[in-house]
Amino acid sequence: MSDCIFCKIVAGTIPSKKIYEDAHIYAFHDIQPAAPVHFLIIPKAHVASLAECEDQHAADLGRILLAAPKLAQQVGLSDGFRTIINTGKGGGQEVFHIHAHVLGGTKLRPLVDCVASA
Ligand code: AMP
Ligand code: ZN
Repeated sequence: MSDCIFCKIVAGTIPSKKIYEDAHIYAFHDIQPAAPVHFLIIPKAHVASLAECEDQHAADLGRILLAAPKLAQQVGLSDGFRTIINTGKGGGQEVFHIHAHVLGGTKLRPLVDCVASA
């Protein structure tokens, strides 16, 4: 998708701190980390959000989830990590190219303490 920031990252026209890339997925550090380690895993093929996914996206969704623990290990998150997929404006999604956040490197607060808005 031509005006999608994450498609531009995949294409290399916007720079990113790449962690991993294969034929299907791309992982890179979040530009505004919410934890000491915070990276994103995206499919190379554009799909706006989890709400737009269909059967044809199952393989990429699986690849993203299976990459999360491997890449977390690779960047030093040996003690665990949190995976988040924000979906839609009501879910806090700001970039409409589906992505899984992987966060760690500190003791993360329980969800009940961090998902509600102020
Ligand atoms: P979300 O709110 O789930 O849509 O998350 C979007 C994430 O993308 C945020 O954590 C942003 O900090 C991150 N982000 C936006 N632009 C970039 C970029 N150019 N490189 C890396 N991360 C980005
Ligand atoms: Zn895109």
